[in-house]
Amino acid sequence: MSPGTKRARPFTTGEDCYVEAGESRAMELAALHESAQAMTSTLHLPAVLETIADRAVKLIGAERCVVFELDALDDCLHLRATEGLSSSETLGAVRLGQGAALSAALGRAPFFMPDVEIQPLPMSDGRWPDAGAAMGEVVRRLGCRAALGVPFVSREAVLGAVCVYWDQPHVYDEREVRLLTGLAQYAAIAIENARLHEESQRRLGETAALLKIAEILNSQLDPDSVLKEIARRTAQVLGFERCSVFLWSDGRLQPAMSQFADGRAVPELWAAFKSIARYRAEEIPALAEAIRRAAPVLVSDADVSPLVPAWWVETFSLKTVLVVPLIRQGAVVGALHLDKTDPASVGDHQLALAMTIATQVALAVDTARHYAEERKRAAELAALLEITRESTSTLELKPLLKQIAQRTARALDMERCSINLWRGGHLVPIMSQYADGHHDPALWQKFKGMAAQHVEDVPAHAQAIRTKQPVPVEDALNSDLLERYWVDAFGIRAALVVPLIAKDEVIGTMTVDDARGPRYWSTAHADLAMTIAAQVALSVENARLYDESQRARADLQGKNAELDTFVYSVSHDLKAPLVTIQGMAGLLLKEYGPQLPEEAARYLGRIQANTEKMERLIADLLALSRIGREARAPAAVSLGEVVDDVAAGLASAMRERGVRMIRGDLPTVWGIRTHIEQVMGNLLGNAVKYLGDAVEASVEVGTVDRGTLVECYVRDNGIGIDPAYHERIFEVFQRLQEVEVDGTGVGLAIVRKIVQASGGRIWVESVKGQGATFRFTWPKEPANGPHSRS
Ligand code: ADP
Repeated sequence: MSPGTKRARPFTTGEDCYVEAGESRAMELAALHESAQAMTSTLHLPAVLETIADRAVKLIGAERCVVFELDALDDCLHLRATEGLSSSETLGAVRLGQGAALSAALGRAPFFMPDVEIQPLPMSDGRWPDAGAAMGEVVRRLGCRAALGVPFVSREAVLGAVCVYWDQPHVYDEREVRLLTGLAQYAAIAIENARLHEESQRRLGETAALLKIAEILNSQLDPDSVLKEIARRTAQVLGFERCSVFLWSDGRLQPAMSQFADGRAVPELWAAFKSIARYRAEEIPALAEAIRRAAPVLVSDADVSPLVPAWWVETFSLKTVLVVPLIRQGAVVGALHLDKTDPASVGDHQLALAMTIATQVALAVDTARHYAEERKRAAELAALLEITRESTSTLELKPLLKQIAQRTARALDMERCSINLWRGGHLVPIMSQYADGHHDPALWQKFKGMAAQHVEDVPAHAQAIRTKQPVPVEDALNSDLLERYWVDAFGIRAALVVPLIAKDEVIGTMTVDDARGPRYWSTAHADLAMTIAAQVALSVENARLYDESQRARADLQGKNAELDTFVYSVSHDLKAPLVTIQGMAGLLLKEYGPQLPEEAARYLGRIQANTEKMERLIADLLALSRIGREARAPAAVSLGEVVDDVAAGLASAMRERGVRMIRGDLPTVWGIRTHIEQVMGNLLGNAVKYLGDAVEASVEVGTVDRGTLVECYVRDNGIGIDPAYHERIFEVFQRLQEVEVDGTGVGLAIVRKIVQASGGRIWVESVKGQGATFRFTWPKEPANGPHSRS
C-alpha cells in the first residue's frame, strides 16, 4: 500500500462527491489499464487500432468511433479502424485539419463539437473524395451530432487521431476527454511499438538478405554463378522484377548479368541485353548519371524520363528504374540496374539497402572481372605461346605466317588478320587469313591488288609506322584512318593496325579487321597485338637472316670446292716436275757420283731430301683436298682393327723408343675406313713423334660412349702443347717445332677435316710438358639410324 492511501483525507459535506469522483477515477484507470493490456498484447497494428476504437465507444458511451493514422508520405489521415460504422460506410484519406479528429491532429489537442447542426465541423463543406460527398454531408448521413477528437502524439510527432461521435448533441465532459486522451496515449505507444516492430522485422529481413548475399559471395561458385545468384537475390530483396549488372571499365559499359527475381529465363531478352556490349554509357543516361555522380538514380516513370531512352524502354518493357553504382575502393566498377514494369516509389530505406547490397555486389563484380581477365589473359598467353612455339619450330616463313595470322585473328576475336611489309614506303602484301581458316580467292586477289600502294594512301598504316604504336579503328565508317575505297573493298567495320618492328625499324604492319560491326579496343588487346607483331617481325627477320646465311653457306661451299680443286690440280701438277727433279738428282748421283766433289754430292743429297719432303707435302695436300670428294661408301668399321693396323705400322718406331701401347675394347663405328685410318694414323703417329724424352713413354687409345656418337681419345705422356696453340695446330702448315722431328704441318688439318665431314668435332686437352690427349667424336650408326644401312 502506498503511503498516500494511509493518510486521512479531510472529508466535508461534499464527501460523497469525492468518493464518487475517486471511484470513477479508479474505474477509468482500471479501464484504461485493461485497454492498455489489450493493446500491448499484440504487435499487430490493425488489431491495436481496432481495440482502441472498441474501447473508446465502450468507455465513453458514444455510438461511433474512427481511428486515423497519419501517413507522413502524403500528409493525410487514413482511416484504420472503426466501431459503430457499417462496412458500407467506408471513409478514406482525410486531409489534416478536416473534421474533428483531424482538427485535433492538426492542433495537437482535443477537439470537441457539441452539436454539428449548430456549428458544423471545420471544413465540413470540403470534398471527401473517397466518400463521394462533402464531409458535412457524410457526417449528417451517418447521423452524427456531436464529436470529440484526440490526437496520438509520440515524441513530438502526431501519429494519428481517434474520434468518437454521438447521435445526439453532447455536453463537454472532462472525464471523457481524459479517457480518450489516455487511450490515445496508449495507442501512440502501441503504434510506435508496432512500427518499431515492423521496422525491426524489415531490418531483420534485410539483414537476412545481406547475409544470404554474403554467403553467395563466399561460396565456391564460379564468378558467373555468383553474379547470377546475387542479381536474382537483389531483385527479390529490393522488390524489383529484374536486376542487371553492368561492368564499367575504360569508359565503357559491359553487360555482365541480368536476372528476373522469379528466376525465369527469357533468351531473347538475354540476347538483347548482351548485344549492347561495349556501348558508351551515355547511350543510357540513367546509367551514365549514376556512374558520373557515384550515387543512385531513380526513374519512377521511364516513359517520360529523358534518363531512359525509348529503345531501352521498348526492348526491356520497364517503367520504374533504379540504377545504383557499384563502388570499389573509391572507384565506380559497374552499376546495378533494377527495374519493374509498374510505377513504384522507392523509400529511403530501400535506397540505403540498395547501396549496401551494391557494395557487396561491387566485390563480386571485382572478383568476376579479375577472374574473367585472368581467363582471357590465359587464353591470349596460350595463343602467344603457341605462336612463339611455332615461330621457333620452323624457319619456313609462309606456313608460319599463315598460322600466326589465323591464331592472331582468333585470339583477338576478329575475322581476319593480314600481314604487309612496307618496302620504300610501298605495300608488299604477304599474308591474309580468316580466323576460321576459310579461303576467299577473290578477296586475296584484291588484297594482292593493293600491292605497291603508297603508305600515305592508308593513313592508319602510315600512323602505325610513324608512331610505332597500335592504331585502333573503332568504327571504320566514321573514321579518317582508313580510306573509303579500302573500307568498301574489304568490308571493314573495325580494325587494329600494329607496326612490325625489327631492330627498331618498322618493316611492316599487321592488321586485324572485322566486318561484323564497330569494335572497341582495350589497351590489353592492343598490347597483345603488339606482342604478336613483335614475334611476327622476329620471324620475318629470322627468315631473312636464314635465307642470307643459306646463301652465304652455298657461296662458301662453292668457294671451298673451287679451292680444293685448285689445291688438287696444283699438287698434281707439282708432282710431275718433282718426280723429274728427283729422277735427275738420282741419275746425277748414280752416274757422276764418284766424279763429283764431296761438297757437290752433299748438295745433291740435300736436294733429294727436300724433294722427298716436298713429295710428302704434296701427298698430304692431295689427301686434304680429296676429303669430301670421296667416292667410297661409308660402312661399319671396327675401330680396334684400324688401331691395331696403325700400331703395327708404328711398331718398330715404338719398339725403338720403348713405348707402351695401351688400348681397351674399341667399338665399331660408321664411316669410310681409309678416313678412320688417316685419323688414327695421324694421331697415333703424332703421339709417338712428340713423346720427347719422357720416361716410361706410353700411348693410350680408348673411347667413351656418347649416345649416337663415340668419343675417342689418343693420349700420350710426351711434350704436351701450350693451350695458346690448341686451336692453331689444326690449321694447315702450323707446326710448333718444339722438337726436331719430321712433319709437314698438314696432318691435324686432315684429321679435323675428316672428323668434321663425318659430323663430329675434335679438340685437344693438354698442358705444356705434361702430355697431350686428342679427343674426337665419331658416329656409331648411319645418320638416319641403324636401319637405314640396308
Ligand atoms: P706435323 O706434321 O708437324 O706433325 P700435324 O698437323 O700433325 O703436323 O701437327 C701440328 C703440330 O701440332 C705439330 O707440329 C706439333 O707441334 C703439334 N702436335 C701434334 N701432335 C702432338 C702431340 N701429340 N704432342 C705434342 N705436340 C703435338
